[in-house]
Amino acid sequence: MGHAGCQKCIRQGDPISPLLFVLIMEYLHRYLGTLNSNSEFHYHPKCKKLKITHICFADDLLLFSRGDVESVKGLMQKFNEFSAATGLKANPSKCRIYFGGTSVIDQANIKEVTSYGLGQLPFKYLGVPLSSRKLTIHQCQPLIDRMLAKIQHWSTKFLSYAGRTQLVQSTLLAITNYWTQVFPLPKKIIHRVEALCKNFLWSGKATGKRALVAWDKVCDPHNAGGLNITALDCWNKATFAKLLWNLHKKEDKLWIRWLDAYYMKGVDIMQWQMKQDCSWIFKSIMKKRDMIRCSPYWMKSLNDNSFSTRKMYTELRGDRADMNWRKLFYQNYARPRARFILWLTVLGRIPTKDRLGRIGIHTDGKCSACDQPETVLHLFFDCSFTQQIWTKVLTWLGYQIQRRDWSREWQWIMEETAKKGWKRCLLKMVVAETIYHVWQYRNERVFGNTNQTMNIDERIKIMVMIRGQHKRKLAEHLDVEHMLIK
Ligand SMILES: [Zn+2]
Repeated sequence: MGHAGCQKCIRQGDPISPLLFVLIMEYLHRYLGTLNSNSEFHYHPKCKKLKITHICFADDLLLFSRGDVESVKGLMQKFNEFSAATGLKANPSKCRIYFGGTSVIDQANIKEVTSYGLGQLPFKYLGVPLSSRKLTIHQCQPLIDRMLAKIQHWSTKFLSYAGRTQLVQSTLLAITNYWTQVFPLPKKIIHRVEALCKNFLWSGKATGKRALVAWDKVCDPHNAGGLNITALDCWNKATFAKLLWNLHKKEDKLWIRWLDAYYMKGVDIMQWQMKQDCSWIFKSIMKKRDMIRCSPYWMKSLNDNSFSTRKMYTELRGDRADMNWRKLFYQNYARPRARFILWLTVLGRIPTKDRLGRIGIHTDGKCSACDQPETVLHLFFDCSFTQQIWTKVLTWLGYQIQRRDWSREWQWIMEETAKKGWKRCLLKMVVAETIYHVWQYRNERVFGNTNQTMNIDERIKIMVMIRGQHKRKLAEHLDVEHMLIK
């Protein structure tokens, strides 16, 4: 913006520049609006009713007019005047012109006026392809490529299962979420995206390793024993229900005003008779109409006059039975990696040697502490080595331990952790950290890199102290200095 002739110019990245940019684009908006009074200028036939000459987002600008030389001249003249006044110029090598139903002679004349190259649909606007036809697998490839690039970047880092779960939900699925808000993704792409997420979760790479838990289970909510990862297929249906909701409520958005002006003409979307010349996205929104109309959540949202994509999604996923161990995870302040291993254990999916044997992976099958067969039951509870740890940590918490069989012991943990209070909160943390430490110790023994310098029970206690002292309701019961529970 050095053109204003001031001494101190504003550089790119200056905090004030986005604000100035918005102001200047407002000027462009008003200036192009004056085309209305130019008798030589004609709106694009599908823009006339709403008097649309342009849409823009950040520095992407789309200009529309009828396909005749005079209209394009008028449009270009306004834009050039704007450029001269503000110093904001378009880079001709990055500009394209798109025709629809314009004769070849007119096209040639118009191209001369603009000096822009001829563009082909689809082109990208706001990072997604704009296309007059259904998205092809090929057009969705940039989405897959972005996810692959992320995974390659992370695969060099050492991440726990819990860390990878976070990245799947917060980044990989967030990239896809942007697309699912505007497009119905092809089924193949949904499968591809889910396969990438699944592979990354279980192996840390884009290529696969056997999943320990089925993806559908991983997508279940926490109370039903899952990790609450978004299931794309249902999510895409829910985002389309949201589009339908906005159409039904005739929200004040440009795309809705436009559809209303040219298609629905004031008729409610739920009653409107669909026309064959609608765009493919509009058609796919309409296809969801009958499914959504009968949905209990849709009826409820009409009553409440508010719509939540998340709630629609929950309904589309269907009822999922609660797990009796779900409360073991509520307000469990153990490290996420410890909670993840606990989760695999309660699902019976932790790869102990007996389980590996059943899927054809050969091991010696023995517990690394005592030579008995390694099963979940033995490793985490029955092994005399583990028993000692349980006794020490539970006594430390102030519980009287009676030697009982495992199923009664587990029953006791379930009942106790379902209750409220700070002590149960500590118990949950102890359970998760104990399982995690036993599993880690087992892995160190199996893979031969033991470097134990401290007893496992001591490490569990320290971890509980470290995590607990940051929680107000727990901190007052922890004597960190003496490693005691008050
Ligand atoms: Zn053992």
